[in-house]
Amino acid sequence: MKQSTKCIQAGYSPKNGESRMIPIVQSTTFKYDTSEDMGKLFDLEADGYFYTRLQNPTNDYVAKKICELEGGSAAMLTSSGQAANFYAVFNIANCGDHVICSSSIYGGTYNLFNVTMRKMGIDFTFLSPDCSMEELEAAFRPNTKCVFGETIANPALIVFDIESWAEKAHEHGVPLIVDNTFATPINCRPIEWGCDIVTHSTTKYMDGHDATVGGCIVDGGHFDWMAHADKFPGLTTPDESYHGVTYAEKFGKEGAFITKCTSQLMRDFGSIQAPMNAYMLNLGLESLHVRMPRHCENALKVAEYLEANDKVTWVNYPSLPSNKYYERAQKYMPNGTCGVVSFGIKGGRKKAEEFMRHLKVAMIATHVADAHTCVLHPASSTHRQMNDEELIAGGVGPDLIRLSVGIEDIEDILADLQQAFDQI
Ligand SMILES: *Cc1c(COP(=O)(O)O)cnc(C)c1O
Repeated sequence: MKQSTKCIQAGYSPKNGESRMIPIVQSTTFKYDTSEDMGKLFDLEADGYFYTRLQNPTNDYVAKKICELEGGSAAMLTSSGQAANFYAVFNIANCGDHVICSSSIYGGTYNLFNVTMRKMGIDFTFLSPDCSMEELEAAFRPNTKCVFGETIANPALIVFDIESWAEKAHEHGVPLIVDNTFATPINCRPIEWGCDIVTHSTTKYMDGHDATVGGCIVDGGHFDWMAHADKFPGLTTPDESYHGVTYAEKFGKEGAFITKCTSQLMRDFGSIQAPMNAYMLNLGLESLHVRMPRHCENALKVAEYLEANDKVTWVNYPSLPSNKYYERAQKYMPNGTCGVVSFGIKGGRKKAEEFMRHLKVAMIATHVADAHTCVLHPASSTHRQMNDEELIAGGVGPDLIRLSVGIEDIEDILADLQQAFDQI
């Protein structure tokens, strides 16, 4: 199936007389005829459900759809993008281990890694996504367990060189994890470029309607855990908390990562997505292939409009030919990148705030990447605690406006920007 067909049909095929839409299995537990039947589930000897803290059929239909969209071998939903990134890394990196990470990632992920996961004893090295391969090479340690980056960094909009970083990771016998939230599998499929595990905040374009918070992890199924058995004992030696199962042996390259992540981390931390939310996420996915091109088309027109505006000092959008990452974006995302554009306004912080007060179509919100056009001035909101020098050092100057271009009529979006510019 093509991507468009998968958006609508993948993951669930109703049998004769069954509901056409995925059923919402709103049940915490599942009934079995005998204790023996249930015992087989607990031993991972049979497929099935026993408790929604670990797995639920509604979630699995939707995870399977995302898995097929990404070209993976197995997938699971999580309650949020934060949970997805935490699980993806913690499934292979534990206390005493080390992770190499692009320095240009979502702020929430940066805090999770740099503050919370450091408290768990995991060390992180943050490297510029534009560092040389020699610098990347030098960052590896014997205890490095994975490498992490974002296809298109939120909010810096830097395009990640997936292929080169994947090659380096593999030379060192570790997987590359890529957060593909902004590109979505409609615009980029990181597994095809050598990435091993893909994560998502489904809260953004996948849901696409500002309705549900959620996340997803997809395993490409190519990484050979057994070939690097000493590095990944959690996958390659018996799990005593699961009746001595060795995940990489029993479930192979295709299933080990997600099975361990479900049966250990989801069991113990329980960041499951509610089945009702998974149902709504599925509704969003059914139009992802129609919405993404429209987001990209509108965003490119907005970026071109801003570039030609003399009240604007700079525009950052990776699909603009003048952009530093244009070539890389064309390689990985020839059909478009995302709907998010950032730009600077003459007169800095004061003018940025004034400009935003006049906007009517574009709503002020901390959210990005959904159907509604929305706008954020990080210096006076999410990055409020920083002074101007700190903001500039962090790549989020006081004049920066982040505009998430929605799928409204482009003429209304441009007219809204124009009337706001006219008033400053
Ligand atoms: C929003 C976001 C996250 C966090 O996702 P939540 O669903 O808000 O927990 C992670 N990565 C990226 C790139 C994001 O944009």
